[in-house]
Parts: sequence; structure tokens; C-alpha cells
Amino acid sequence: MSKETFVTKEMIEEAVKTYPTPFHIYDEKGIRENAQAVKEAFSWNKGFKEYFAVKATPNPYLIQILKEYGCGCDCSSLTELMISKAVGVEGEDIMFSSNETPAEEYAYAAKLGAIINLDDITHIDFLEGILGKLPETMSCRYNPGGVFTMSNGIMDNPGDSKYGFTKEQMFQGFRILKRKGVKNFGIHAFLASNTVTNEYYPLLAKQLFELAVQLKKETGAEIRFINLSGGVGIPYRPDQKGNDIRAIGQGVRKVYEEVLVPAGMGDVAIYAEMGRFMMGPYGALVTKAIHEKHTYKEYIGVDACAVNLMRPAMYGAYHHITVLGKEQEPCGYKYDVVGSLCENNDKFAVDRMLPKIEKGDYLVIHDTGAHGFSMGYNYNGKLKSAELLLKENGDIQLIRRAETPKDYFSTFDGLGIYESLEKEFLG
Ligand SMILES: *Cc1c(COP(=O)(O)O)cnc(C)c1O
Repeated sequence: MSKETFVTKEMIEEAVKTYPTPFHIYDEKGIRENAQAVKEAFSWNKGFKEYFAVKATPNPYLIQILKEYGCGCDCSSLTELMISKAVGVEGEDIMFSSNETPAEEYAYAAKLGAIINLDDITHIDFLEGILGKLPETMSCRYNPGGVFTMSNGIMDNPGDSKYGFTKEQMFQGFRILKRKGVKNFGIHAFLASNTVTNEYYPLLAKQLFELAVQLKKETGAEIRFINLSGGVGIPYRPDQKGNDIRAIGQGVRKVYEEVLVPAGMGDVAIYAEMGRFMMGPYGALVTKAIHEKHTYKEYIGVDACAVNLMRPAMYGAYHHITVLGKEQEPCGYKYDVVGSLCENNDKFAVDRMLPKIEKGDYLVIHDTGAHGFSMGYNYNGKLKSAELLLKENGDIQLIRRAETPKDYFSTFDGLGIYESLEKEFLG
């Protein structure tokens, strides 16, 4: 089965003249069309806002595009907050959904006027200790425990996850916050990851809406928003059917009208913090086949490795691969497509049926637009790649340059390692 790419062989052959492989490339047109569809799917809710999960793709150029569609930023660290600030996303357009949060990060979030979403009941005192006085608007992250099931079985295991308040703590927490002067409340939950079904958001919404009605009734808290967070997935495999965001929007609307409206809560805003769904399909990792190896298996060695895309090594995640220029050829060869790390899990694909690959072929590894580049690291002294943007007019723009050895050595202040080697090795 095949999967479309948004780049062609000709495009990449042109791009590599300026930007050598490997690199991540993003599709502006796809990002825009999808952002528009998300906006329309929830336009029935007056206060709707998507807070893009910055950790998925922390690139100011891309966040700027989403901002044009009314998106805010969901941040969970100091530098993510700084990126938001840099693109002009401030105040309540930032959702700070962190956990095990250092004091200085809470302080900076508050300074930017972000909405703070607490991960734990003990953070009420922790935050008050930092700020002196709590903000007027606060959110709490809910964890119902147990397992989260949908019609096709168990989807995830909230009872095993480190996040959120228990149900009892939600009630207790809201009472304490109210006593401490908080006026507007939000509820947040993230119960299942990468769900490829239109059912997830509506089911989650129903749980949160019912909780909201109960919380309001028992604590008198004014609930201003319900944050469905992330977890809306994408079809990584070619035989999977993607989510229909319009159907998801309508599914949430239905439970909103069933649960919140009759409770007199028809003014509650719906928030989302999608990362993967906003960006995942609109990024790809382009890499070149540089070796072939015939031992007990057939290997294709490429110039990217797990530091450019960690998901296959970390979760055994499937990412589809297209060999550019060979889209129509039969997939008659079984390969492991591997990177150069000294780790045997550095494999983009295992036993993958592909067309015959020659050295010099360009491979497109699909769906790296979220949790791709951003999970990168520097193991084996590998350097992070560039990020490119395929503009709507067909131009290619560099939106993050590749790391250089100088970047790698720059944190050894004063040792001058790079400077002393520069002449010797790099001419
Ligand atoms: C990771 C994360 C998201 C985004 O998740 P996706 O699966 O990319 O949609 C949203 N909110 C929080 C708090 C997260 O940790």
C-alpha cells in the first residue's frame, strides 16, 4: 500500500544543492488547510481555541503560521514559553500544562500571563509560594485512574500515568483555589495518545463535561473552559483511515448539548492542545541511502539516524517510507533501513518491503512533522539536522539551519576545543 508524499524527486534533487540531507521538510499548504479545518470543526463553540503543543514542533516559523488561524501555544518548559513569547503569543493565549514544574518556570509563565494548568494538588501551595497571590484563572489536570476504554478496547492506562489530580483531589483542589481567590476555572485531561478514531474527543468530553457539572454544583466554581488536550492521532500506516476533524467537532458538540447546555453551562469554552494532529502529516524526514550491506539480512544504511527521528527506536513506531522516483515500482525487496548510531535499535524500518534501493536514492520518511525533529538528541556526537519549509508557492525556505560541530562544542565554555580543532580538521 502506498502513501502520498508532498515532495517529489525533482524538488529534493534541487533542494539538496543548497541543503544536504538529512533534513526535515514541512508542507505549508497542508499545515494551513488542516488548521483551517480544525477551526471550522469547532466554530460552533464561541470560545474555542487550539493551543498548539509546542513540544511537538518547536519552530517559530511554523507556530507563526498556526497563529494566523487563531492558535495559541501549549507550553511545558521555560524555552517553550520563550518561543511563544518570541512569536507574539502571550497572556491567555498560552496554556502552561507542565508537570514536576521548576519554580522559575511557573514564575515566567505567570509573568507572561499564561493560563496555568496545575498537574497536582500540592502545586497550589507551591505556586502560591512563588507568586504570593494566585492568578484569577486557574486550571487543573484530571486523571480518572483505571483504564480508558473505547469501542475497540482499552486505549490507555490513566491509572498508571504520573499526571493529574484524582477525582477527589479535583473537588478538594477547586474548593481550596476558590478560597484563595481564584475566580475562573478550567478542567484539563489527556487520557489516550495517538487515537485514530473519531470517538476519542467526544468520549473524553463527556467525562469532563459531567465532571464539570458536578464540580460546579458542589464547589460553586465558575467553570470557564474545558481543555480536551492532545491525543488526536494520525494514520502512520497506509492502511489506516485518518480522523475526520469535522466529525470529531460534531461529536463533541453533541455531548456539549446533552450535558453542559441543560446544566446552564452553555457558555463554557472548549480548548484543545493538539500537537500531532496539527503537524504530524505535514513533515517528512528526507535522507539518502549511502550504504547497502548484505549479511544475515539486507540493510540499507542512510545518512539520518535515530537522533533525527526517535520514534521508531523508542516505541517501535511505524513510519512509512517512500523511495523517491520509485513510487510506481513494486515493493519486491525486504530491507532493514538503518542509521549510523552504535545502537542496534537505530532502525527506521525492519523487514520493510520496498522497491530495490540503490546508493544515492532519496528516501522520504513520512509523518515526522510532530514529535520528530523535536525529540532529537546528540548521542554519538550526532548533530541535529536542518528544518525546511516547502512554501505554498513551491519555494523552499530554511527555517532552522543544521547544527555544526561549533554548536556541539559551544557549551564547553572557555575550553576552546572547537577553535583549536577548527584549523586542523575543518581547514
Ligand atoms: C504532548 C502533549 C500534548 C500534545 O499531544 P499530541 O499527542 O501531540 O496531540 C498536549 N498536551 C499536553 C499536556 C501534552 O503533554
